[in-house]
Amino acid sequence: MHTNSVAQLIEGLRERQFSSVEVTQGFLDRIDALDGLYNSFISVDASAALHAAAAADKRLATGEAPPLTGIPIAHKDIFCTDGMRTSCGSRMLDNFVPPYDATVIQRFRAAGAVMLGKTNMDEFAMGSSNESSFYGPVRNPWDTGLVPGGSSGGSAAAVAAMLAPAATGTDTGGSIRQPAAFCGITGLKPTYGRVSRLGMVAFASSLDQAGPMAHSAQDCALLLNAMAGHDPLDSTSSCTDTEDYCNALDNNLQGLRIGLPDEYFGDGLDSATGECINGALRELEALGATLVQVSLPHSALTVPAYYIIAPAEASTNLSRYDGVRYGYRCPDPVDLHDLYTRTREQGFGDEVKRRILVGTYALSAGYYDAYYKKAQQVRRLIKQDFMNCFEQVDIIAGPTTPGPAFALGAKSDDPIAMYLEDVYTLAVNLAGLPGMSVPAGLVGDKPVGLQLIGRHFDESRLLNVAHRFQQATDWHLRRPESAAGPLTGGAA
Ligand code: GLN
Repeated sequence: MHTNSVAQLIEGLRERQFSSVEVTQGFLDRIDALDGLYNSFISVDASAALHAAAAADKRLATGEAPPLTGIPIAHKDIFCTDGMRTSCGSRMLDNFVPPYDATVIQRFRAAGAVMLGKTNMDEFAMGSSNESSFYGPVRNPWDTGLVPGGSSGGSAAAVAAMLAPAATGTDTGGSIRQPAAFCGITGLKPTYGRVSRLGMVAFASSLDQAGPMAHSAQDCALLLNAMAGHDPLDSTSSCTDTEDYCNALDNNLQGLRIGLPDEYFGDGLDSATGECINGALRELEALGATLVQVSLPHSALTVPAYYIIAPAEASTNLSRYDGVRYGYRCPDPVDLHDLYTRTREQGFGDEVKRRILVGTYALSAGYYDAYYKKAQQVRRLIKQDFMNCFEQVDIIAGPTTPGPAFALGAKSDDPIAMYLEDVYTLAVNLAGLPGMSVPAGLVGDKPVGLQLIGRHFDESRLLNVAHRFQQATDWHLRRPESAAGPLTGGAA
């Protein structure tokens, strides 16, 4: 059962081949048996999951159950969950039990899904390797000596290892797409504002966006149907109409124009990774698409612009963790100043402190114009590059990452090397565009991701291209050996 896609599970549940309690129990057993290897979950509440599954089975029996009824889903531990700890991977929120559900969580509940648990992540979603979590690193199911990518590495590893059929993630600069690429799964970062940010712990508010992570584009479409839509409680959520994201999946690709930016295929791209990407592009060509050379001339400025804007926003968002309102509080403060400083010193890890320092500096009176304002101007140029390209092409394609997953510890002492991992993903967030990563090959046995970037609110087209690609290839069906585990052939 654990090898099924979400689409297959929906069908099996409706045809009574199995019950939601059986499916949920199967995944809980796999988490129990295998997650010691990966550390992909921070919290699992088996009895709540089984309770929800039993309720889902009752709804299914009525014949009038909403689309995801009975489907177990894992949620990144950045989404507030009523009554269940929401740590955001930080000591600062280790004791935080929210009194309400994030809109994303509410929508999954309303769609009938069963919450399996909360997945591990980089602290406050800052990172590209999942090594900055207070709960320890996540390991890549394809090779447990490798990182799974970050910051949604727990979600990516859990799906890759079939501990959950699908999961949620968030992407501020690549955190859905990059771990999806490293773990051989499919991930979609929707257009900024497509999915509500209410109840999602804020990192960089003008960039953060939640999206689905699953085995296939079809499964991502099924999840996006539940997640997308206007939320009156999030002033940045969009009123643009949603669609049924499954409708266009089968459209043919005749006449589709795919732009290949020069800047995404130059120095810095690992050659074996580049070969996988080229193979995938030939496949898309065979399906009827035309490849067009394009240019994103300000690409070299995306890493510097992002690493001013994201830390600036983070430094203001994280000022709320002061030991007074909620979260960690240092023991025995002698006065208010001591309370603030020791709480923040002890509650935050190194990467979070680094971002707060950079962000506070960039926003300080004497430097605001030189750094923050300049970065915002550069952001506009980066967005304009994409708008120019989209006059010539329908989507843009390239690698998700410069190379496949790297070894645990390989970059953790070198923040600049870590930031360069995001070189192909950041611009999408700066421009507010939708982006996807789709499994497109293996280097040795390390997965490689093809990135697809679309026009604002053109998620349907990205999902369509990815779905047609997945019907013609089987990269998304490959599974890591470590996940075969002791339960193969068992109840799960
Ligand atoms: N790796 C990027 C960062 O560390 C992106 C993280 C994210 O998308 N949440 O900021």
